[in-house]
Amino acid sequence: MPSSAPRALPQSLALPFAGADSHAHLDDERLLPQLADVLSRAALSGVSLIVHVFLTHERYAANARFILDTAAASCPAPDICFIRGLHPEDVPRADEEEWEHLVEAVRSDPLIRAIGEIGLDAHYEEGFSPSALQEPWFRRQLRLARELDKPVVIHSRDAWERTFQILDEEGMSGRPLLWHCFGGDAEQAARILDNGWHIALGGAATFKANAALREAARIIPLDRLMFETDCPYLAPMPWRGKLNEPAFTVFTAACIAGERGMDPAELWTAAGQNARRFFGM
Ligand SMILES: [Zn+2]
Repeated sequence: MPSSAPRALPQSLALPFAGADSHAHLDDERLLPQLADVLSRAALSGVSLIVHVFLTHERYAANARFILDTAAASCPAPDICFIRGLHPEDVPRADEEEWEHLVEAVRSDPLIRAIGEIGLDAHYEEGFSPSALQEPWFRRQLRLARELDKPVVIHSRDAWERTFQILDEEGMSGRPLLWHCFGGDAEQAARILDNGWHIALGGAATFKANAALREAARIIPLDRLMFETDCPYLAPMPWRGKLNEPAFTVFTAACIAGERGMDPAELWTAAGQNARRFFGM
């Protein structure tokens, strides 16, 4: 038997043009040069909305117009909106000027629909981004979100308890919050849901070893679930290890639909509606 069967293309899942990739880094240096093709493949695969993440003023200033112009010139193309924030990896390089740019952008650009991705990442703790720096920037951005009444998108890696503690101290329970790239189990998912928050699942949910994550996916109410790529990272099966792009969101949705015993088109559409509602599109 041939062992190198071609991988399924995202279009072959034939999902309706109603889903969303709720977390994409389109300004990656490998995706940006082929952005028109990336956007049309997404649209032809059923992705009707892409939430793009801007992490520094430099990249926002350089690429926001280009991304919007490219989408406007493509047909079909997904709708695009932005989130903007200081990632825990970037805070050591942040200064007051960077902060002023962030506040100005969030206040004045109507396409910036949330503050994110913000949070804590113990992976960067050793070496260059100590928690003594990460935590004050995280709190400052949470307070800005409250002040401007914006949703937040959370990045939390190996910092589960501390992230919860800060979110609690900053009064975020019950406020619009999306837990990006959720990688926990059903108990952890329940804790997020109990606070009224949303959960986004990425390609890791399709990996064979992550059965506990798929079990968690089964308990997420239909109106609290989103799908994302976090592209260019973490492509889902059957494209694991390759360059990820928004079109591949469909594989994660189809995998979780199978896990929940649901029609993939129904889950895809519901999760897309959740993203549109959450990001005010
Ligand atoms: Zn990200």
